[in-house]
Amino acid sequence: MWNSPKVGILGGGQLGRMLVESCNRLNIQANVLDAENSPAKQISFHDGHVTGSFKEREAVRQLAKSCDVMTAEIEHVDTYALEEVASEVRVEPSWQAIRTIQNKFNQKEHLRKYGIPMADHRELVENTPEELAQVGEQLGYPMMLKSKTMAYDGRGNFRVNSKADIPEALDTLKDRPLYAEKWAYFKMELAVMVIKTKDEVLSYPTVETVQEDSICKLVYAPARNVPEAINKEAQALARKAVSAFEGKGAFGVEMFLLEDNSLMLCELASRIHNSGHYTIEGCALSQFDSHIRAIMDLPIPAKSLEIRQPSVMLNIIGGATPDSHLKAAEHALSIPNASIHLYSKGAAKPGRKMGHITVTAATMHEAETMIQPLVDVVDEMRA
Ligand code: ATP
Ligand code: MG
Ligand code: MG
Repeated sequence: MWNSPKVGILGGGQLGRMLVESCNRLNIQANVLDAENSPAKQISFHDGHVTGSFKEREAVRQLAKSCDVMTAEIEHVDTYALEEVASEVRVEPSWQAIRTIQNKFNQKEHLRKYGIPMADHRELVENTPEELAQVGEQLGYPMMLKSKTMAYDGRGNFRVNSKADIPEALDTLKDRPLYAEKWAYFKMELAVMVIKTKDEVLSYPTVETVQEDSICKLVYAPARNVPEAINKEAQALARKAVSAFEGKGAFGVEMFLLEDNSLMLCELASRIHNSGHYTIEGCALSQFDSHIRAIMDLPIPAKSLEIRQPSVMLNIIGGATPDSHLKAAEHALSIPNASIHLYSKGAAKPGRKMGHITVTAATMHEAETMIQPLVDVVDEMRA
């Protein structure tokens, strides 16, 4: 199409793979840094990929040499390597944004300065039972003990129901930097994908997410039974939070809708996000398309971020057997309007995201009805 700059992607998991799908449709070469044969590399044949890890300084340097703009599918990358190469290539979003966001406690301290509402929280310094008990007195029970770093899919969270749980909580999260959060009594979890371009902060509509064991299971787009005013308010809050960081691209913002209809930020991610997968079928531009356009300064018509049809997304998570995700996908083949995405990660492990299914329909009720048999299948496999 045009002689486009090359994009370097740190991480070749499912998010990188779906970014590559978007790049491919625009004739943009995506150079992926990850292990040989990672999901993203499997669908992209050229000699620009780099074998290694996004946590290795040398591998990041090598990727920087082969591309014009660098981005990441994950926030747990070596930001010191990114800082170093930022003088040679553009890094989007900025390494500063990724560094602050990858530590959930620092992320919250930063957002606090911008007046973003969040659950009250306390840093732990010594990680002793006495210290956590003192925090428990301040925050009350239950409270959520959280790892500041390397957290994903709830691996890094421990619900502390009472003082008696403290030893187990500290043992489960031992050797990790910790903070504790006041329990958020939410009636619903909401999420908004924000796209930061060179001169605008855009947002997709507000969606509803359902977590099971702290892992995203279902996404309803738009959020069900949420008044337009709250949809707008959640988008505004998400854009305000993302505006606190430097750099371009997609950011996933997770929020709690409380009983009194007020909103609280749960956390945000400096990348494309599971809660935005529905945009592939639900919107004219997917979150992956928009991310690539944003980092390359290509136009993004705001209209293209609107939901064209109500959508429901179901994650296919590794279950009881190594092939249970394939059985789920097989069922989905016969469901009307179901789009199947398998990530080609090989054998499943319990809790690992192996794929997702999106159903779109003229009404949310219809989409829910169509996907329900598949939700039942997935639930049975888990049980
Ligand atoms: P992700 O996979 O989204 O990165 P994570 O491991 O970083 O997840 P969080 O998003 O902080 O973890 O928490 C995961 C889930 O745990 C939330 O979606 C919510 O359901 C629950 N949760 C987190 N914090 C609280 C809280 N303060 N009160 C109640 N529930 C909470
Ligand atoms: Mg997280
Ligand atoms: Mg989360």
